Amino acid sequence: MLAASALASWAKADTIVLKNGRRITAYQVVERGDKVSYQTSAGELTLPKSIVDHVERDNAAMPEAHAAAAANIEIAAPVNVPRRGDSEVDAQAVHGGSVDREYIAKLENAARSGAPQANANAALAHHAAAQFELTQGDLDHALSDERTALNFEPDEPALLANVAYMYLRRSEYKQALEYIDRAKRKAPDDPEICKLAGWAYYGLSKLDQAVEEWQRSYALRPDPETKAALDKAMRDKKQEESYKENESIHFSLKYDGSEEPELAKDVLRTLESHFSAIESELGYTPPDSIGVILYTRQAFIDVTQAPGWSGALNDGRIRVPVQGLSGMSPELSRVLKHELTHSFVDQKTHQRAPAWIQEGLAQWMEGKRSAENAPTLSRLFGQGQVVPLGSLEGSWMSFDRNQAAYAYAWALANVEYIVATGGMSDVDRILDRIGRGESAESAVRAVLHSDYGDLMQSTAAYLQKTYGN
Ligand SMILES: [Zn+2]
Repeated sequence: MLAASALASWAKADTIVLKNGRRITAYQVVERGDKVSYQTSAGELTLPKSIVDHVERDNAAMPEAHAAAAANIEIAAPVNVPRRGDSEVDAQAVHGGSVDREYIAKLENAARSGAPQANANAALAHHAAAQFELTQGDLDHALSDERTALNFEPDEPALLANVAYMYLRRSEYKQALEYIDRAKRKAPDDPEICKLAGWAYYGLSKLDQAVEEWQRSYALRPDPETKAALDKAMRDKKQEESYKENESIHFSLKYDGSEEPELAKDVLRTLESHFSAIESELGYTPPDSIGVILYTRQAFIDVTQAPGWSGALNDGRIRVPVQGLSGMSPELSRVLKHELTHSFVDQKTHQRAPAWIQEGLAQWMEGKRSAENAPTLSRLFGQGQVVPLGSLEGSWMSFDRNQAAYAYAWALANVEYIVATGGMSDVDRILDRIGRGESAESAVRAVLHSDYGDLMQSTAAYLQKTYGN
């Protein structure tokens, strides 16, 4: 939760335009009688209204919203369990809050005999370990154990389904689909496997196949998760039926058929050039092609159901409203680079990066810096009113405009400080650790040798030193 007190004093910057053409960036601008007053870090300042031409209120839409859920689909782990292991293996493999590796090694030795029941037991033990690791949020070890289980029982649909599920959680849709296809050959009428297949196709932007799989799953077993996913895919499909498609090396682009085809080409060219830039900054190449959809404004709101302040969205695909544009603009280019950064970070960290790193880095990449926000952030920090980074790890989708404005500014400041001090390689190393399953704060501690409290302190000092009062 965000502290309300901090946000009450957060105001977006307005611009006071004087008659001589000078522009003043100002907070909390109030026009009273023949005076215009505004806040600075030095206190309130007042101008005679006679020299003020007008005040530009910052009503621009927030840049975007980033939803970090895998393809924005909420589907729980499969309920399928392997059928052939002995009933006590589960409880022996995991007990007292940890995995009994010695016990599992014994079962593996027994399996060397080649006896089918021994193989089934070794598989079940690794599956139990994987399920335990999943509950601990340790997706990497869970995947490794589940795949080892599969070595002992290569045709067991429950194991295939669980391996597929873990790849889906990592947004590795093509990999997931290989296991799903194998599972289907053994259990063609399993609703759980159809449900996972729908997710894989949805992630690969194959909406027809996603709808087909989810419809089939729902017919076999009605379930609210499948229904919600199906509804979402149907909304997308309806919208995209009239869309045209275009492709480049790293992107597949869809856009409303009535929009300018030149714009679509411009967007792909711009995306490819941003791709190279981010690739060399982060030293990382996302393996999967990135889906991009250009919308009219209303279609964007209908399809994404994003909050009103949102200007673009990355929910596994980059969704951008482009109504009225006939070619690339600097603003659209910035939005594309911002959203593309999210795609890189998502794939690099298997969607585990906290929102403050995602949004801080995306803004940094698009070229934003903290100059404008530094006075307000410094003041809030001095008053002990900053919101801790720990509160900015989860989704910001429920924030109102003010909360979002604050969160974006503070996130940028912290990432800017990290890059300014240790270079982008520090960000890289933090992302690598998060990708391997470490918590964000422990990754920060390992790379920067400071916890969130220290980082925020250093960021505030950096703002003071760099931008003054
Ligand atoms: Zn963003």
